[in-house]
Amino acid sequence: MSFSDDEIERYARHLVLAEIGGPGQQRLKAARVGLIGLGGVGAPAALYLAAAGAGTLRLIDDDTVALSNLQRQIVFETPDVGRPKVEAGARALTALNPHVVIEGAAERLDATNAARLIEGCDVVIDGTDDFATRFVVNAASVAAGIPLVSGALGRWSGQVGVFAGRPCYRCLVAETPPDAETCARVGVVGALAGVVGAMTALEAIKLITGAGEALTGRLLLYDGLAGTARTARVTADPACPVCG
Ligand SMILES: [Zn+2]
Repeated sequence: MSFSDDEIERYARHLVLAEIGGPGQQRLKAARVGLIGLGGVGAPAALYLAAAGAGTLRLIDDDTVALSNLQRQIVFETPDVGRPKVEAGARALTALNPHVVIEGAAERLDATNAARLIEGCDVVIDGTDDFATRFVVNAASVAAGIPLVSGALGRWSGQVGVFAGRPCYRCLVAETPPDAETCARVGVVGALAGVVGAMTALEAIKLITGAGEALTGRLLLYDGLAGTARTARVTADPACPVCG
């Protein structure tokens, strides 16, 4: 796979990095990343992955753009309100980087279609904010052997984890917590979505290029209000219904 002059100039800052360079950029171009949800996490992640030259992005979201999304879902613009997210996202991402192939799936991911929707992806990023969908994405990713980058946020804090086989996301979250919160109810600072979304894109880039140490089996917890972060190891659950 060779690069045009445009691509060489476009990716110049990657090409000089020892951990990416030409071979890493080729791996990025050959990769397909599945984005489950084009929301607070998925929208900035998609922008950075398109800019990075991830060859194919599969956008999976059945929603339309709402005015209240624009405070943090920066892939969308005001005229996009009311349009399908997959369609508006594809337009913006293609404008940012015409070398990237966008596959849109305006479907709500569930247990009946998850395997098909993530098939052929090298990495899946889950930025959805309901546990039922997260559990389905996790089970499908484990079954297909696809590494899962999980990003979540609410109010002023967020977390990012990478799961590849065992431990899986279900080892971390066994059941839907009774006090599960949604951003719609408790709020979220828009810039925090940028932090967490960019972190999930970074982890995907590391997984694809082999650079550094991915957050595999670990969870990075970021407290935006305090300005602190810590990393915790995820323990495999012997009774996990997915990977146990
Ligand atoms: Zn598990």
